[in-house]
Amino acid sequence: MLDYDYDIGILGGGSGGLTVAAGAAQLGAKTLLVEKEKELGGDCLYFGCVPSKTLIQTAHVYHLMKNARKFGLPPVEVKPVDFRDVAGRIQSVIQIIQKHDSKERFCKLGAKVEFGEPAFMDDHAIRLDEKTFSAKNWVIATGSSPSIPPVPGLDQTPYITNREMYSFERLPESMVILGGGPIATEMAQAFCRLGTQVMVIQRSGQILSNEDKDMADQVMQVLKSEGVTFYLNTSVVSVKDLGGRREILIKKGEGQTILLHAEVVLVAMGREANLKGLNLEGIGIPYDDKGLKLDQRLRTVHKHIYGAGDVTGTYQFTHAAGYEGSIVVSNAIFHLPRKVNYTYLPWCTFTDPELASIGMNEKRAKAEGVEYDVWIEEFKDNDRSLAEGEQVGKIKMILDKKGKPIGVQILGPRAGDLVSEWVAALNGGVKPMTLAAAVHPYPTLGEINKKVAGTYLSSKIFSERIKKGLHFFFHLKGRACGAVEREVPVKENQ
Ligand SMILES: Cc1cc2nc3c(=O)[nH]c(=O)nc-3n(C[C@H](O)[C@H](O)[C@H](O)COP(=O)(O)OP(=O)(O)OC[C@H]3O[C@@H](n4cnc5c(N)ncnc54)[C@H](O)[C@@H]3O)c2cc1C
Repeated sequence: MLDYDYDIGILGGGSGGLTVAAGAAQLGAKTLLVEKEKELGGDCLYFGCVPSKTLIQTAHVYHLMKNARKFGLPPVEVKPVDFRDVAGRIQSVIQIIQKHDSKERFCKLGAKVEFGEPAFMDDHAIRLDEKTFSAKNWVIATGSSPSIPPVPGLDQTPYITNREMYSFERLPESMVILGGGPIATEMAQAFCRLGTQVMVIQRSGQILSNEDKDMADQVMQVLKSEGVTFYLNTSVVSVKDLGGRREILIKKGEGQTILLHAEVVLVAMGREANLKGLNLEGIGIPYDDKGLKLDQRLRTVHKHIYGAGDVTGTYQFTHAAGYEGSIVVSNAIFHLPRKVNYTYLPWCTFTDPELASIGMNEKRAKAEGVEYDVWIEEFKDNDRSLAEGEQVGKIKMILDKKGKPIGVQILGPRAGDLVSEWVAALNGGVKPMTLAAAVHPYPTLGEINKKVAGTYLSSKIFSERIKKGLHFFFHLKGRACGAVEREVPVKENQ
């Protein structure tokens, strides 16, 4: 048997790579972790989840201050935002979390960390600066970068991506955001709340195009009411640098052109896998801009070289990268064949209100020809939501024709946390009856989960058939007051 320097080598020290490194090293595998930048942590820590959610919270507090009257408080005179303070807070949060991802911590776990830009020499060895490292298994977890569209003039115009948007010297007066996905939408609201005039250009007819249109439209309405301008079904014709500001020519459908001006152009039009420079061509591993070609066990054409995280080109989330990392550890170290299964992979867009999703939504069910029923509850009927001044949003529970929940979408306050109950329920095959019968604390937002399950069940329990049965067996005497009128549960059919 060939002797390699390491049992497993990992390229990329972000969410996916760190999961594999921690798991493999703690299981006793001789582990090498190679990171291109000077620190471990990846996009999520420096330019993604952590800074964006910190910025969103700052913007949320500022928004609450400006809306103090809504809560029966005296009006607050808010001063304009000094973005250097905001950026300082973002960096301080990053620094705290960074400690979990330090080289020293991974060394303690048993993994050797090397910094530099690696390239495969053959399918078992890499070259890193002047050194060579071989490993029995390799994992490519090099993440993704913003994809830059070929818009005329963009290459000669200063623009920013998610890497630059947390470090302004001062808050931009105006910003045009190219793209209407989760990053674009979250940042549109955050910067608008802080005081920037924000315009969003989206190619298709809705923002957040993976989500059901009714949910995405409600998010858009909230952002519009706060001052964000949206241009849907709109393409970017050209971009020009005018010195202190940028000129953006857009076209609505096939017709009208509009000239926009903004201090900053933020490009948020999807992601491209970081696979160039690794010499994957040289060792015969196929890939495209989206990512690696992998089988269900996340193996490339070389069965000992795996992919995890954004390079898989599937669900580009930190928790997906962590999940894929665990699949790789299972296959490569435990030798337990495990396939990825994304059926109940949840996600959340952290706008206010948040939009969280798990399993099938209506759009996907229709595309896949799945017959379904939808049950809806609204946050305006949730006592806690009203107490918190939140009235926008709803939960949609999607059931197959046998009454099995196959997906849930929640638009509302703390939807990202509320969906966790459904993560357990759907993964555990929990029936709506169990959820409806389980006592939830009052008053909580989580009651909406119980209520939607209960509403579905009440349509069955309070049926005429059941009533007739009870009348027959137990001689119930029927209505004591008023005309026959019963609350009709909200059910929508496709
Ligand atoms: C603005 C923004 C907000 C986001 N918000 C969320 C969120 O709220 N929730 C969520 O779940 N996800 C969020 N994401 C997505 C999340 O950040 C990614 O899905 C996650 O970081 C992917 O993990 P990864 O390991 O694939 O890549 P990364 O975490 O980026 O790690 C890849 C690592 O590989 C390194 N690398 C690159 N090339 C090489 C090379 N040639 N050799 C060696 N190392 C290399 C990189 O430097 C990096 O450290 C957000 C992303 C962005 C951009």
